Amino acid sequence: MTAQDEAPELEVWIDQDLCTGDGICAQYAPEVFELDIDGLAYVKSPADELLQDQGATTPVPLKLLADVRDSAKECPGDCIHVRRVNDGVEVYGPDAE
Ligand code: SF4
Repeated sequence: MTAQDEAPELEVWIDQDLCTGDGICAQYAPEVFELDIDGLAYVKSPADELLQDQGATTPVPLKLLADVRDSAKECPGDCIHVRRVNDGVEVYGPDAE
């Protein structure tokens, strides 16, 4: 048995159908979110590539967790979803308990 990490691994995805394009997320966490020329926000891979597939996820670096969490809380479209990698449970976002 190995000890569990204190912070579970998290990933984030954006529902572009609801994105208003205001860019709050990209201001809070530009390492994770970026607006494309279509005016919608997308997540970026750790290699800084824009991920445009529907439902694409990217890992949330621990040092950016507060910024990503605040993005999800303040997103006017309620369309930023942060979930645990191991069980898919949403921890921040419109579907979080
Ligand atoms: S904060 Fe939400 S609504 Fe605004 S650009 Fe980011 S994902 Fe879209």
